[in-house]
Amino acid sequence: MATYDVANRSAIVTGAGSGIGRSIALLLAANGASVVVSDLKGDAVDTVVGEITAAGGSAAGVVGDVSDPQNAVDAVEAANGLAPLKIAVNNAGIGGPSAPLGEYDLDGWRKVIEINLSAVAYGMKAQLPAIAANGGGAVVNIASILGSVAFANSAGYVAAKHGVVGLTKNAALEYAAQDVRVNSVGPGFIKTPLVDANLDAETLQFLESRHALNRLGEPEEVATLVAFLASDAASFITGSYHLVDGGYTAQ
Ligand code: NAP
Repeated sequence: MATYDVANRSAIVTGAGSGIGRSIALLLAANGASVVVSDLKGDAVDTVVGEITAAGGSAAGVVGDVSDPQNAVDAVEAANGLAPLKIAVNNAGIGGPSAPLGEYDLDGWRKVIEINLSAVAYGMKAQLPAIAANGGGAVVNIASILGSVAFANSAGYVAAKHGVVGLTKNAALEYAAQDVRVNSVGPGFIKTPLVDANLDAETLQFLESRHALNRLGEPEEVATLVAFLASDAASFITGSYHLVDGGYTAQ
């Protein structure tokens, strides 16, 4: 199994109670990072913190909503309490409404933009200066293939994820001089509760066929890319958008 150079530091992972975020938290912890497991629900946070500590790792939980900027401040404080904060993974996200733009629910639009885009900015506002103060590190923002291509009936989600790609580039320019690298990741469709909750069996089968590898991805296959980008091995990689999409956008 590949290993990642992330020891002797702490990492914040938002949305770490489920799916992709949980896999990222477990992989970073298995490689020696102390992980702040941040999520909406206390029981999900406790479960993942328990999984990490049972495996001999170090973790703490922060329960809250990423769309509250104070949540990011709390997570930074908790992380620095474990070890110097050097890694942040802004992963929490929702699916948003499914409708053509003319029928798109505006409360749903505001919610998906707030959680999937604005909360990434709120997160980085607290994380970037803190990581810089610790001598540098890496931020990874979870975008999507829908950060570069469209998906009908998902305008809010697609706009938010395109926004995450741009926001990432801006932050990378602003913090490069302080040795903070900032990258985004674009997963294809990955088997997680988010996908199960939003898509029926027929749609899932259709989506499998849209990936050149003819299947959906696993959360662990996203986590390995994120752990690499967060690690010291990715020392010359910043400001860029990295796909892990089974060939979805190649065709
Ligand atoms: P998931 O299994 O639903 O996990 C997302 C986690 O984030 C959940 O624990 C959820 O809590 C939490 N969360 C939602 N809103 C939050 C908020 N306002 N504050 C704090 N936590 C919140 O989803 P996933 O599939 O792993 O998705 C993770 C990220 O990957 C998202 O940004 C998503 O857009 C992105 N992504 C996913 C796919 C895919 O196919 N799965 C593809 C591309 C990109 P609750 O369960 O309590 O709501």
